[in-house]
Amino acid sequence: MSTLVWFRDDLRLADHAALSAAAEDPDGIVALYVLDEVSPEARPLGGAARWWLHHSLSRLRESLAALGVPLILRRGAAAEVVPAAIAECGASRVTWNRRYGAEREIDAGLKAQLRAEGTGADSFHGGLLFDPTQIRTQTGGPYRVYSAFWRACLAAPAPAAPLPTPESLRCAGVQPASDDLDDWRLLPTRPDWAGEIAERWTPGEADALVRLERFLEDRAQGYARGRDFPSEEVTSELSPSLRWGEISPRTIWHRAVASGADVGGFLSELGWREFAWHTLFRHTDLHTRPLDERYAAFPWQDADDPTAADALRAWRTGRTGFPLIDAGMRELWRSGTMHNRVRMVVASFLTKNLLIDWRIGEAWFWDTLVDADAASNPFNWQWVAGCGADAAPYFRVFNPRTQQEKFDRGGSYVDRWAPESLLHPEIVDLRETRIRALAAYDTVKNAP
Ligand code: FAD
Repeated sequence: MSTLVWFRDDLRLADHAALSAAAEDPDGIVALYVLDEVSPEARPLGGAARWWLHHSLSRLRESLAALGVPLILRRGAAAEVVPAAIAECGASRVTWNRRYGAEREIDAGLKAQLRAEGTGADSFHGGLLFDPTQIRTQTGGPYRVYSAFWRACLAAPAPAAPLPTPESLRCAGVQPASDDLDDWRLLPTRPDWAGEIAERWTPGEADALVRLERFLEDRAQGYARGRDFPSEEVTSELSPSLRWGEISPRTIWHRAVASGADVGGFLSELGWREFAWHTLFRHTDLHTRPLDERYAAFPWQDADDPTAADALRAWRTGRTGFPLIDAGMRELWRSGTMHNRVRMVVASFLTKNLLIDWRIGEAWFWDTLVDADAASNPFNWQWVAGCGADAAPYFRVFNPRTQQEKFDRGGSYVDRWAPESLLHPEIVDLRETRIRALAAYDTVKNAP
């Protein structure tokens, strides 16, 4: 009677509470991953995320195999697949780390069902520093302002020390059947657009740790000064690993603090991730619904209108004629990521200068980012669009030229990604479209 560990967005062995708990079972473990593209609570993955998932699962499979346990891969609605796998291997208990978005509905239903059927089901601390039910205002509600939220986090008991990687695992005698990873076709073919993504990134737990150490040794020193400059390589590049749980935020927190480097600013960025997830916990429809409900009536351009459709195409393909925008959008397309400063500028340009709905931009990022995150992506889009939690005010319209002068003065970022952008005609007049955006905002700002 073994224990089945259900891996989800936690593709690692270190600081994996569900795995550590299962490892104590003398009858051994079954390690399961379910690709759920059908449950309504599970948002289908974008292309870049599927690429990352394929490689991250391969790495996890290798790490588990080194400890004598196969990774079982199954596809379908988790609420059906997990019980079926349990029936096949006769496990008497299931463990998993908690999820905090819409999928927790699946988990709650499954837990109740399994327990009713006599199978143990235990969930453990998930991929956040602080549990969303624990960080509350004095009146018991959620925080709406980041600074107060992060102050409350820092005043709470520090995140527990990460658990070590289990030294050994016992493999359960009976294992369920597994799909073949290649059959899932997570990798792009015809065309294979992932060439540069593969050059830039190495998915998996081992490389996440390498990036963390590189950050603490070489980059942390210059982080506060350089993090806003896209050509400076000072940020950690840990976001895709955090998204897939190849490294836990607790591991990052404790390693960063122990390093003795000045990491306050860096940890407060992790605090933004935390804030995004705590917001998603309460608003699981974050990618479809503006937190500020007045924006439900915002007069966005009709994206099917030919002029708006052309502008959207120019934005997506990096042909707007504004070098910083074009560089960012091409960095995204070619390498699966974009520097944070540039993400803010391109999102402002889309939602304000082009007056295109933030949900359309969010969906493009969802498809093209390797770190496409169910909380951070919609949270930040809403933040830039002015309708989110503690959002930038709508009237703050980034000027892409001024931003370029400030943050890419020497032009090395633009030269790297979009050297000939200046040859494209600018698709809009910045001043006119800014005035148009503010007029559109006037129509909703006084709504109740
Ligand atoms: P570092 O500067 O090293 O920061 C460390 C970690 O803190 C990051 O890995 C990330 O987990 C977290 N973090 C940093 N900034 C933010 C932030 N603003 N919001 C939330 N978490 C943050 N981040 C994602 O992980 N996934 C997304 O889908 C995503 N979409 C975004 C969309 C827009 C429009 C914007 C403006 C930002 C978005 N971000 C997203 C946040 C941010 O751009 C990335 O987390 C950051 O660029 C990742 O680089 P890094 O790992 O080197 O960050």
